[in-house]
Amino acid sequence: MTREELYASIYTHDTIYLPPWEEQSAPLEVALGCSWGKCRFCDFAKDTFSLHSDEKIEENLKILSKLQPENPRVFFLGENAFVIESERLLRLFSLVRTYMPQVKEFAMYSRIDDVLRKTPEELELLKKAGLSDLHLGLESGSDPILDVMNKGVTSADMRKGFHMLDRAGIGYYVTVILGLGGRTFSRLHAIETAKFLNTIHPKDIWCLKLHLFPGTPLYRESKRGHFDPMTPEEILREEYLLLENLTVKDCLFEDTTVLNTYTLRGRLPEQKEELLRAMEYLSQMADK
Ligand code: SF4
Repeated sequence: MTREELYASIYTHDTIYLPPWEEQSAPLEVALGCSWGKCRFCDFAKDTFSLHSDEKIEENLKILSKLQPENPRVFFLGENAFVIESERLLRLFSLVRTYMPQVKEFAMYSRIDDVLRKTPEELELLKKAGLSDLHLGLESGSDPILDVMNKGVTSADMRKGFHMLDRAGIGYYVTVILGLGGRTFSRLHAIETAKFLNTIHPKDIWCLKLHLFPGTPLYRESKRGHFDPMTPEEILREEYLLLENLTVKDCLFEDTTVLNTYTLRGRLPEQKEELLRAMEYLSQMADK
C-alpha cells in the first residue's frame, strides 16, 4: 500500500478537520460526530455520534505509528473526543505510547460540559499523562445568544470549565463565531464575548465568520426572516468592537475568514493596536 492508501485506510472521511495549530500533530480517529449535535448553526456534526472501540483504535494506531514514527504530539479526532471518560482516555494515552513511545503530548476537541463532567483530580491525572491542549467552541459570551443557538451550556458553565482547565494546567484554544447574534444582537455579542474572554486564559482566540449552511436550523430561520445575517463589512466592525474590549494577555488573536481574503493574526496585548489599525484599513477598503 502507498502512504496515501495507508492514510485513507485509517480515517472515515477523505477530509479530516484539524485546527490550524494542530497541522503538525498525528491525527488518530477515536470518535465520529458530536455527542451534542444540536447547535442551530452547526454543519460540523453530520456523523451520528459514536466512539470507536479500543480494537479499532489500536488497528489504526499500528498504521499511524508507521506513518509518523517520530511525531511527539497526537491529536484525537472526533468532534468532542474529550467526551471519553478519564479512565479510558488514560488507557488510550498508554496504548498510543505502546506503538509511539516518542509521543509526549495529546490534544483534542472538547465541549465545555466534557470538562465539567471530569473531577479536578482526573484533569490533573490527564495533564500528567500528557494532555496538553483542548480546542473548544466558545462561539459567544452572551447567554441569550448561546441559548437561542442551542449551545447547551451557559456562560457560567463555560467560565467554570475554563477555570478548571486553568487549575489543572491544561491549555485551551477557543473559537468565536462572528455574526452569531445577527444584526440585531451584534453589539451584545461583541461586548459580552469580550467580557467573557477577559475572565479566562485562552492560548488562542480564533474568530470565524458565521456561515449559514443549507440544512441547518439557522439557515431555515434566516430564509423565513427570523435571523438577520450580517454583511462581511458589518462583521468586521463587530470584530473591531470585540477586539477593542479585549484585555486578555499572552494570547494569539486570529481571524482567517474576515472579508474572505485576509488573515488577521497578532499577539495580545502587544499587537492589539496594530490589529485594530489593520481592521480600520480593511473597513475603509471595503467601503470604497
Ligand atoms: S458542540 Fe460543536 S460540533 Fe457539536 S453541535 Fe455544537 S458546534 Fe457542532
